[in-house]
Amino acid sequence: HSAIELEDVAKDYLSHGEVVQAVKGVTLDIAEGEFFSLLGPSGCGKTTTMRMIAGFEAPSKGLVRLRGQDVTNVPPNKRDVNMVFQSYALFPHMSVWDNVAFGLKQRKTPQEEIRRRVGEMLEIVALAGREKRRPREMSGGQQQRVALARALVNRPRALLLDEPLGALDLKLRQAMQIELKRIQREVGITFVYVTHDQNEALTMSDRIAVMNDGLVEQLGGPREIYERPATAFVAGFIGTSNLLTGAATGGALKIGGGRVMVPGRDGDVTVTVRPEKITIGTDEPEPGMSAVRGTVAEVAYLGTYNSYAVSLADGAEITVFQQNAHDATATAERGDSVWLSWQERHSY
Ligand code: ADP
Ligand code: MG
Repeated sequence: HSAIELEDVAKDYLSHGEVVQAVKGVTLDIAEGEFFSLLGPSGCGKTTTMRMIAGFEAPSKGLVRLRGQDVTNVPPNKRDVNMVFQSYALFPHMSVWDNVAFGLKQRKTPQEEIRRRVGEMLEIVALAGREKRRPREMSGGQQQRVALARALVNRPRALLLDEPLGALDLKLRQAMQIELKRIQREVGITFVYVTHDQNEALTMSDRIAVMNDGLVEQLGGPREIYERPATAFVAGFIGTSNLLTGAATGGALKIGGGRVMVPGRDGDVTVTVRPEKITIGTDEPEPGMSAVRGTVAEVAYLGTYNSYAVSLADGAEITVFQQNAHDATATAERGDSVWLSWQERHSY
């Protein structure tokens, strides 16, 4: 059985006499042991979807199944899933140890087993030796690991994490992303992870559901979603992309004093190209390449790469990223007339 299945799940809220369709019909199938992310902008329905998996909200329609069992009307405490929130919700007056042991004590787990399981879990989240600390004596990242240990010590079949790293600064967040992925591999349970941060989702996930306005726009692995965005929304939301539109004839879109290869497509087309797939230069590219002419409008030095904004004759603007070699100077400067080229397989 799948760990978690949503079948056409929707949620309407009544807010000041008006119906808000928070989730409009989501179907998902999450495998046992998978690191699965719900990714999308604020307000697209991620948290609501998560709360329906956990049982904190009842769907307006559709079914929720855990390991093949219909739990649509089963309360949260009977679902064998645990949820970790952005606000860690630790007990401030309790030590790290007592915070993690809390759930086991409540369920009258034998002392010896509590000692063993809490000890193991603190080891896994790299907090062994910090048992006596209080939450306020710890950094944000450490507190988040305590919250994680507290959720995992109950050995839920699935862990739901709603923007758990949102309160941390960038450096710590990146470190915790790697840490979380390691922990998930180590404990081997299903993680469902909510984030609005595309890098976070790409870094950690086995699969990602990109959500927009209450619906899943695309479901796939990180590479698939990045390289083959299914919709203009996904292309725009994940990474930077260039959208070129126009009328294609004879398998090419004629723009910017050049051509974009679109074999087999005629009529109105929209083509997406990632900035890092484009080469910038002064020589005319070989036939068979997609190639357009333009003028460099801006150059930005961004450390590992340069970003160029290039204006085409017909007004379109294309962004190009070019990796910096160790002794690099910019290949083109503002005002230069340049060719942009890329292989046909890099536009879609
Ligand atoms: P996300 O987590 O992706 O930011 P949410 O699931 O929290 O999105 O919210 C989706 C939509 O539903 C938003 O428009 C939000 O305002 C609305 N919403 C969420 N919870 C409630 C609620 N309890 N009552 C009314 N509207 C809500
Ligand atoms: Mg949310």
